[in-house]
Amino acid sequence: MAAFEIPEEQWAQVVEKSGGPAVYKKIPVQKPGPDEVLINVKYSGVCHTDLHAMMGDWPLDTKMPLVGGHEGAGVVVARGSLVQDIELGDHAGIKWLNGSCLACCFCMQADEPLCPHALLSGYTVDGSFQQYAIAKAAHVARLPKDCDLEEVAPVLCAGITVYKGLKESGARPGQYVAIVGAGGGLGSMAIQYAKAMGLHVIGIDGGDEKRESCQKLGAAAFVDFMSSKDLVQDVKDATPDGLGPHAVILLAVSEKPFQQATEYVRSRGTVICIGLPAHAFLKAPVFDTVIRMITIKGSYVGNRQDTQEALDFYQRGLVKVPFKTVGLSELQDVYSLMREGKIVGRYVVDTSR
Ligand code: NAD
Ligand code: ZN
Ligand code: ZN
Repeated sequence: MAAFEIPEEQWAQVVEKSGGPAVYKKIPVQKPGPDEVLINVKYSGVCHTDLHAMMGDWPLDTKMPLVGGHEGAGVVVARGSLVQDIELGDHAGIKWLNGSCLACCFCMQADEPLCPHALLSGYTVDGSFQQYAIAKAAHVARLPKDCDLEEVAPVLCAGITVYKGLKESGARPGQYVAIVGAGGGLGSMAIQYAKAMGLHVIGIDGGDEKRESCQKLGAAAFVDFMSSKDLVQDVKDATPDGLGPHAVILLAVSEKPFQQATEYVRSRGTVICIGLPAHAFLKAPVFDTVIRMITIKGSYVGNRQDTQEALDFYQRGLVKVPFKTVGLSELQDVYSLMREGKIVGRYVVDTSR
């Protein structure tokens, strides 16, 4: 394929100081290193992690100035001299895991998100809220040519992460899983992956719009955390024998549900923590955790194999997140809605406007 014309400058959303805002401005286009590709990002999903990164919520420093974004779907327009298995013109995705060393004990076992040298898109390296973004070739998601770049973008973080979390939960077909934060970006995906994996879903979120969305995506039951008088009992009651769900997937961005989950999970059940509320702690009664044999685990994005499996569900038409598209220039408005918990599904930004 002939070389692409790559401009010197491009539009980007740049966070110049921790706490924000993101500023829409022109910045130079970078050149890929020997093991990297340059992707012309067409669309990028907006994950709550991008807001955490801008706000400096976590005990891990971001680069600064920072271009956020880690659900970028686009076209490979340049590649380094060592890259051989991706062609110019191929579709590819920028994930949270931008690169890893491929040599440490974690990388050797395909636990690359745990690599001590991991590069994180939109956090420690610039991400997909720009028209041209760089990633290590080994880690970019391989997207089929016929896939819709706008629709697939949210799979690149939300999809991979919840799919991996469901696998980590060990829940088996026919069992019940509670999805906490089910109306948000990760939650909307989680309902569909869980259903496709043969699970019954109890969605937990707040408000009628989120209730409707969860029901439409296939949740068997919905518990409203804002109006429920006894959330623990309501979640248990949503299972036929009243003993609670076999697994809980925690996606909410607040601490309270992290404390509640062990109260309603079934004995022998598993609580999977994925959401990352700022300054939050897990607290569970030791007595109950022991005598009910409850497992509490963290789950963090996914590896390259999880990525391809999560994309395969999308390719088969089993998952499709409800999304709204706005221009990259409107990113700050998306953050405002996100902060208020008003987003149903995902916002996707179009980098051409
Ligand atoms: P989102 O804002 O789209 O969704 C969060 C949802 O939680 C909203 O619908 C909100 O209404 C709901 N919620 C808030 N309080 C609740 C409560 N008490 N009970 C039930 N629901 C409640 O956010 P998102 O993009 O889906 O991301 C969710 C979290 O997951 C963020 O903290 C993000 O950083 C984290 N995340 C983690 C990983 C990982 O690998 N572990 C990957 C991606 C995102
Ligand atoms: Zn994310
Ligand atoms: Zn490594």
